[in-house]
Amino acid sequence: MKAIMKKSAAPGLVMGEIDKPVLQKGEVIIKVAATGICGSDIHIYDWTSGYEWLEPYFPAVLGHEFSGIVVETGEGVADSWIGKKVVCMPGKTCLVCPACSRGQHNLCSSRRTIGLHSPGSFTDYVAVPVINCMVLPENVDLEIAALSEPLAVAANAVELAGIEVGETVVVLGPGTIGLMLAFLAKKAGAARVILTGVAADEARLTIGKKIGADMIVRVDENDLTPIVMEATGGSGADHVFEASGNGRALIQGIGVLKSGGDIVLVGIHGAPVSLDINALVRKEKRLLGAYGSSPKTWQRVIRILAESGNQLRPLITHRFPLEEGLAGFKASKEPGAVKVIIKSSEG
Ligand SMILES: [Zn+2]
Ligand SMILES: [Zn+2]
Repeated sequence: MKAIMKKSAAPGLVMGEIDKPVLQKGEVIIKVAATGICGSDIHIYDWTSGYEWLEPYFPAVLGHEFSGIVVETGEGVADSWIGKKVVCMPGKTCLVCPACSRGQHNLCSSRRTIGLHSPGSFTDYVAVPVINCMVLPENVDLEIAALSEPLAVAANAVELAGIEVGETVVVLGPGTIGLMLAFLAKKAGAARVILTGVAADEARLTIGKKIGADMIVRVDENDLTPIVMEATGGSGADHVFEASGNGRALIQGIGVLKSGGDIVLVGIHGAPVSLDINALVRKEKRLLGAYGSSPKTWQRVIRILAESGNQLRPLITHRFPLEEGLAGFKASKEPGAVKVIIKSSEG
């Protein structure tokens, strides 16, 4: 079967052929329906620094944001899994380290990832541990279900912030996670969600407006600070989410935060950021990191997808069949692209 894989330590990916996976104890085989191209997949495609550790796993079949149907069960797995619509949490966790014991599987010290350390879903069939699978309600469509991994990442950040009804939330950066943060912040009861971006983000900002942002600020043309101050009667935002990975945005985000407010960092920064720590100390502003998500958060996200998954449809800007998957990676670099979905086709 066809598979999109990383074969060498250089830019690009290849469409190769692999055998159908062999089931191990405790695993199921999922017939893949849809897989989203993640920002991390694009980094691996571009071969920017930070993924050198992947080389021992070459050829690595990518794809970790996926949905599908269970078609085979391995030893120790109940037959009743067969035919179930599922999504799969990509993190293979040890279940015994201190973080796992606390239920914080996203912080497992020996976490391995499906679609990096073991073959992923840019193919037709993938074998995964059954404990990573979550059954979907029948009414969730499999394309929308492929959004569950990034939505769980955004939900984890929203839960860390603890948004309350009537608050003002600023989301910096309208990538997939930023847009999902705007959607979830609104759902969590924020009175006003302000989403920022630059000229190249125009199409994404328009999508943001459709799915939850009340106000859009083009920070290349406007100064965010007076806009947020005016919108909040001079007090500043209750919560800021930094989803751009841009150091300047982070510093600006701290500036627009109210005293005692929190800024949740979700974006991955390519370089260290120099901060005026006193700006945090003297106003009791809190800087929080957010990474991945826990199984409990995934369960909640599945309920959101079941109830209002259709509202997220505008996030899916491109769809490609698996055979044209490499074109999908090119498309994901277009300025209007948010989530590119690769559809597996094997019958
Ligand atoms: Zn991802
Ligand atoms: Zn662990």
